Amino acid sequence: MKLKDDVNREDLEPVMISALEHYSYCPRQCALIHLEQIFDENIYTLRGNIAHERVDQATSRNEDDIQVERGLPLWSHRLGLTGRADVVEFPGNVPYPVEYKQGKRRDWEYEAIQLCAQALCLEEMLGIAVPQGAIYYCSSRVRREITFDTPLREMVTKMTGAVRILLKSSYMPSAVNDQRCNKCSLIESCLPNVVVQSDRWKFYRSHLFTVEEESITGE
Ligand code: SF4
Repeated sequence: MKLKDDVNREDLEPVMISALEHYSYCPRQCALIHLEQIFDENIYTLRGNIAHERVDQATSRNEDDIQVERGLPLWSHRLGLTGRADVVEFPGNVPYPVEYKQGKRRDWEYEAIQLCAQALCLEEMLGIAVPQGAIYYCSSRVRREITFDTPLREMVTKMTGAVRILLKSSYMPSAVNDQRCNKCSLIESCLPNVVVQSDRWKFYRSHLFTVEEESITGE
């Protein structure tokens, strides 16, 4: 029997798990990809594609006595999330998601948010607690283990809501125009400099009007 609340939650517009990573990196990037369907390639995304080539193929096999699922579809009715896990290992009965990333090891929070969203999906799908997972950095060939603590779980819930509101509103957030843009594949489509300049012009124009008014009224 479905409870009323379950019905409402299943009606939630699904949000892609990847959108959470995009949003936490830059809300404008999230809107460009998920609202305007813009996805440009740069050296970072190309490397990322290569990193994902193997794990994109859905397979299920036993490796060194550990069950390993690749390209596993994920969903959460509770949060309204959908996506795929690169790899889920089952050492024993506890699922352990592993997300593949290009480049060297780093401590980016956005990647931890994406992985935690996968864990929340697995918990709902399998009815089992998923306390930890890892991000594998292909260049360094190391894993960064992530513990899915309460603040991280709350962040995923909050961010899922924020992304859903953004996608429903069709609002295009302002460009961040900082060091994040240097590694962003959308820089040519986004033109963060131009957007920020146009915002500046609006500011100058409104101030010019104020100055003119002040000089007329002598205030
Ligand atoms: S170029 Fe900068 S502002 Fe534009 S989407 Fe990328 S990170 Fe965001």
